[in-house]
This record gives sequence, C-alpha cells and structure tokens, in this order.
Amino acid sequence: MRRRSWKYRLYPSKEQKEKFDLYLYECKNLWNSLLEYVKVHYGETGNFPTRKQLYLKTKEQSIFSQVAQNVADRLVKSLEARSTRKKDGVKAGFPRFKSIERIKSFTYPQFGFRLEEKLELSGIGQITIKKHRDIEGTIKTLTIKKSPSGKWHAIFSSETEQTPVSKKAGPVAGIDLGIDHFAYLSNGVSIENPRHLKQAEQKLKKTHGCFSTKKKGSKNRNKAKLKVAKAYEKLTNRRKDFLHRISRHLVDKYALIAIENLNVAGLARGFLAKSVLDCSWAEFVSMIHYKAEEAGCDFVLVNPAYTTQMCSSCGLVQKKSLAERWHSCQCGASMPRDLNAAINILNKATAGIAGSQACGEETPTGYKYGRQVSSEKQEARAFRHG
Ligand SMILES: [Zn+2]
Repeated sequence: MRRRSWKYRLYPSKEQKEKFDLYLYECKNLWNSLLEYVKVHYGETGNFPTRKQLYLKTKEQSIFSQVAQNVADRLVKSLEARSTRKKDGVKAGFPRFKSIERIKSFTYPQFGFRLEEKLELSGIGQITIKKHRDIEGTIKTLTIKKSPSGKWHAIFSSETEQTPVSKKAGPVAGIDLGIDHFAYLSNGVSIENPRHLKQAEQKLKKTHGCFSTKKKGSKNRNKAKLKVAKAYEKLTNRRKDFLHRISRHLVDKYALIAIENLNVAGLARGFLAKSVLDCSWAEFVSMIHYKAEEAGCDFVLVNPAYTTQMCSSCGLVQKKSLAERWHSCQCGASMPRDLNAAINILNKATAGIAGSQACGEETPTGYKYGRQVSSEKQEARAFRHG
C-alpha cells in the first residue's frame, strides 16, 4: 500500500471561515488541556495516560468528535516519538503548550467528511472546493489547513495498491546537489537554479525588511506581515513547480538515479547548509523517490563520504577547500568539482550492481570537461528554458 496526499484549495464563506477558525481555537484549547492532564497524570502515577483515557477527555467538545480525538492522537504520537528518541539516547523535550499561532490545521481521521461537487464536513457544512485533479486510491484522512496568508486547503491522504511495475532500461545518472548549481549530473549536464526564483527570493528579503521596521501590534505591521506571507507562499509554490519538473524529467529519462543521502550529507556540509536549500533538497529527493518507484526506475541513496575529495578517474583522495570549484588530478582528470562528485555518486551506486555498467553508456569514466554530446546540450537547454 502506498500513501499519497492530495491538496486542494477551499473557498469557504465568511461564516465557514469563522467556523474553521473556531475549530483551530478549540483544537488548541483541547491540546493544552490534554497536555495538562498528561502532566498531572504523569506526576501522580509515573506513567502517561492511555489513549483511551485521553479519548474520554475529548468528550463534550463543541467540535466534531473525530477531530477532537485526532488531537489526542497527535499528542500520543508526540509522546511516543519522545520515548523513542530517549531510548536512542537523543535529548528529547516534552510536548509543549501551544498558542493559536502554532495550530494551523485540524484533521478528520476517518469519518465526518464527504467529497462530491462540494466538500461536506460534519459540524461545518458544504464548502466550495477546487478539484484540479482526481484523487487516486481510497481516501483515508482529511486535514483542513490554513496558510499563513489566510488561504484554506483540504489535504486528503489516500492509499493505493502498489502494482508492481516492470524495471525500466536506459541510461543511468548520478546527481550532486549543489549551491552554485542546483544539481550536476554525472553525464556533464548542470541544472541551474532558475533566475526567477532568485529574484523572488531577493524580493522576499526586501518585503521582510520592510515588515520588521513596522511597529509591533500596528495595523501596518499586520498588513506587512500578510504581504510577507503571500510572497513566501508564491515562492514556495514556484520552487515546488521547479522541483516537480526536474524530478519528472530525470525519472522519465533515466533507468537508475543515484543521489547523496542527505541525512548524512547535512552533517558533512555543516555551516554551509542553508535551511532553505536543505529543505528544497529533501523535498526534491522525496519527489524523485516516489516518481521513480512508480516508473520502475532504480533509486539509490549513497553515503556522501569522499564524493567530493576522491578523483572519479583514478580514485585518489585529495582534500579540497570549499573555494576550489575545479577538480584536477595528477592522473590528468580535469572537470568541475560538482561533476566529479556526481560521477563518484553514480560509481558508488553501481559498484554493487553487477552488469550495471553495461547499460550505462553515459557512465563517463575519464571524462574531460567540454565533451558534451548534443543530446546532453539539449537537455541542459531544456532545464534553462523551462
Ligand atoms: Zn585522478
């Protein structure tokens, strides 16, 4: 079974918006009172209350019972996560009391909603929804979410049967995610960060600067805050589009895609890793992952150790400073630093797979920079224009 989520814009009436906000408010209150109960219970007995005990405390809420129970579920989940982290020896805090700013969504875990022309919600009513695509699989849960700029969305999760797909044949690619470039492929194609995203980022910084000069609590500050939220949402959407487009292209074209395991890479990169970058990388990797699964394309995560330092031609390991953007080795290998890394990533991925080199006509051992065949040039162009 595969879980997928589907997000749609909602257009609630003024009254329905008020009800949504009331639900968020009630969920916040419920979370806080349940947490209080957990703390007292723990203080008295040394144990957390059971899920059933928490459910009992959600009775007599003005919100739909399943939504209220889901608040208890969320609390149980975060207590369980804390226990697991503690067992693993990781420092783990207790769940916190929440302010209304921290609660952005509420969930119907099973029942209480029906999707037809409109979205019908128990306790709230029929809400106009923009269904821009059909949901695949069986709908499991529904989350109603408010964005920082005040837009409302419905997010359905569905389960689909995992039909076995036949393995695809074709070229293979190693991918190095970078800072100068968005990514470098082992066949020499670089994918640039789109200029419109950079511009939007700069604009966002400006808007944010304007916001922070406004007096706290003033009307102008609230206006500026909304402006920042809107700019941020626009940027996030555009970035997502970009990531979807690139990942779709890669999965369509290649039969095997190798990429660094970011959980390890994040540590290795240290201070260089900007949170925004990290987050779009992680999103990108997960997009490639599920698209690859659906398409029968092999997806391999490799340990990023030495992918930059090692020469992809002869295997010699040499330290490189961050400023060194070019890889040149005594064996004669000479190429961009990120390309060298991409080739290493691919080599690591295919090392254990017998015969994988056979179909990898693009595995460019001994690659010299500048030897891009025309189809790759076209590919690079496609990335720039799209
Ligand atoms: Zn070398």
